[in-house]
Amino acid sequence: MQKREQLRGRRLNQWSVAVIAIVFILVTAVLAVLVTRSIDVITTTSNRIDDNRARHAAHGALQSLRKQLAATVRDNAYWDDAYRQVNLDTRADWIVENWASTTADYPLYDTAIVLDAKNIPVVAYRNGEAMDVSASQLFGPAFDGMLAAARASDRSAAVPVHFIRTNTGIALMGAAEIRPSDVDESVRPENLYVLIFAKQVTADVVAEVSETFSIAGLSLDDQPLASKLSVPLKDVDGKTVAYFNWPSQTPGTMSYLEVESTLRTSAVIFVLFLFSIGAVGFFTINSLKASDMRSRYRASHDALTGLLNRSGLQEKMSEIRKNDGGDDVWLRLHFVDLDGFKGVNDAWGHAVGDELIVAVASRLRDTLPPGASIARLGGDEFAVVTVDRTETKLPLCVGQQIQIALERVFEISGRTIGIGASVGVALSRASTLDIDELIRQADIALYRAKDLGRGITIEFEESFDADTRQMANLEDQLRDTLAKGEIGVAFQPLIQAGSGAICGVEALARWQTAEGTRHAPDVFIPLAERSGLIDLLGLQILTKSIQAAQQWPGISLSVNVSPLQLRNPRFTQNVIDILKAADFDPQRLCIEVTEGILISDPDQAHRAIEELKKAGIKIALDDFGSGFASIGTLRQFGFDRMKVDRSLIVALDHEENAGAILHATIALANALHIPVTAEGIETEQQALAVKMSGCDELQGYLFSKPISAEELSAFYFNGASSQTDRQTA
Ligand code: C2E
Ligand code: MG
Ligand code: MG
Repeated sequence: MQKREQLRGRRLNQWSVAVIAIVFILVTAVLAVLVTRSIDVITTTSNRIDDNRARHAAHGALQSLRKQLAATVRDNAYWDDAYRQVNLDTRADWIVENWASTTADYPLYDTAIVLDAKNIPVVAYRNGEAMDVSASQLFGPAFDGMLAAARASDRSAAVPVHFIRTNTGIALMGAAEIRPSDVDESVRPENLYVLIFAKQVTADVVAEVSETFSIAGLSLDDQPLASKLSVPLKDVDGKTVAYFNWPSQTPGTMSYLEVESTLRTSAVIFVLFLFSIGAVGFFTINSLKASDMRSRYRASHDALTGLLNRSGLQEKMSEIRKNDGGDDVWLRLHFVDLDGFKGVNDAWGHAVGDELIVAVASRLRDTLPPGASIARLGGDEFAVVTVDRTETKLPLCVGQQIQIALERVFEISGRTIGIGASVGVALSRASTLDIDELIRQADIALYRAKDLGRGITIEFEESFDADTRQMANLEDQLRDTLAKGEIGVAFQPLIQAGSGAICGVEALARWQTAEGTRHAPDVFIPLAERSGLIDLLGLQILTKSIQAAQQWPGISLSVNVSPLQLRNPRFTQNVIDILKAADFDPQRLCIEVTEGILISDPDQAHRAIEELKKAGIKIALDDFGSGFASIGTLRQFGFDRMKVDRSLIVALDHEENAGAILHATIALANALHIPVTAEGIETEQQALAVKMSGCDELQGYLFSKPISAEELSAFYFNGASSQTDRQTA
């Protein structure tokens, strides 16, 4: 649950970074567009404003030119003296002197023409000389229009001034009737002459206008020029005869060009900035993803071996269920437990243990088919999941492959280490897979494999469940029995080899359920060990047997103690307390331990044995010869007695060299000054053989089966029974 929360949190972080980066990029991109648009608007607006100003200036220039010429024409035409002079016969001289001669160098006009009432030119001068072409030829049909306009206007009206196309270019022309200030009946139509002044619009005139009115690049053209501003020059009929053209100054564009390189640099910086924001976002998301993947890897993998861990294995199985959910797909879960790993760990230390685990992992990887998922569940437990298309067992099943692979020795830090493996297998159809159930079944199968002596592969069967249920039921009953203090004790006499007299008893736990079923210690002692009831059971047996032994003075009391009890740090104190409470001589008590604890937990065993011995209690090594206890072990722990295992005695009847082995074993103990008890003596021959080999104490059905305290009291302490009777107890 917590893992899922963390996963969700990490995903949220990635999304947040992505959303923040995208929003930031979008917002800044929109801002950039707005700024670009604003710059564009500023540029085009100031260009437009300046173009309008230039157009106004051009119109103003035209107006000014026309007004100037109109004023000149008006001053000369509406003049009493001029009216009088042109109506005299000397008119031609007067006109030449006053108007025509000035056309040579007068700035306001270069052409002067005077026409009579019938529009016949009287004088026509151009540039100080009499014109050699007629006015109509020079100015074309618009000239008649000008005359008509002049005739139509009177002194109060504006003098008509218009542009006119000449055969050499464009001219500005003004025309007015020559009139006196007082018009009376003496002024008749035949007296009204017309004065015309014209000024050629030369390049100089254009340049002057350009300078005066600040219109740079002004030119006079027949057509409006593309990409330039223009104003039309119109004649008297409103017809455009030419254009003033000039280039737009585009101050906005100029200003823009001034800052363009700065803007370009800013744009590059801006793009780089956006890019880096994107890159930072991208890298942040990637690193979040990578760290997400790392933590996911860590959460689902074992740190030591790199294999899947328990939750990784579960994920893998649900993945298989999801992906390969067909009916013919089978999933096999193998639980693997290393045999003898604990011994390696204890003997060589955890570093070697870890190296061995890593070596096991890599051997599994090398051995198993590529599709197999391998996991380490912790300690020396591994699991392998395979997917098959068949329900039936394969010729060399994966479990056996694992076993064969792990039985080969390992070379670790210069040591040759041999271990083995027990494998429990459970099978399920992928589509209907219940992961917890499959794990439970594989666990039960593994447990069974270990129980059956290790080094084997067991596939789960339905009957195992019944067995498990039965064991659980038995466990409940045992707990109940212990709670009621109803566990029983039987006593088996220990006989002195020399005299044949009883010298001690071994207390053996007995359990009969409420329904009357008797369970052997081989069944309920391991059950008590597994279910954590062994401490209670052990103390009850000790208490009860001490209580019984108080009636049998002078003999010893041997009590069996499980390795698990010995591991309990309070064990010794508990024993001492019980002895004290019962006022029982510790010297009479002998604790029997099996060699398992000596090998699996030598330090703890050493400590406990030392403490017990210090309290005066004797320690016997039980079942000697059935395991691997060495001379070293015997010496190291300083046992007070050794009990030769029944298997060595039984072997006397079947195996040729059994006598020699038994003899050597007892001789070994004797050499170390450790007295020896022979267990399981059933025949006189056996009794004789062990006595001959040096045993000082005998135990077995030959003398007595384990019997109740009452029976023992009766048989041995009141002398009331025969040997035959005792054997049937
Ligand atoms: P052990 O301590 O080696 O006890 C001797 C076992 O051999 C007893 O079995 C006894 O009945 C049996 N035995 C004795 N003489 C003969 C014989 O001549 N022939 C045959 N076939 N068997 C003989 P039992 O009572 O079934 O106990 C089995 C084992 O259970 C004991 O082996 C001991 O390891 C364990 N055990 C019994 N009681 C306790 C107990 O109170 N605490 C602990 N921790 N273990 C106990
Ligand atoms: Mg024993
Ligand atoms: Mg024994």
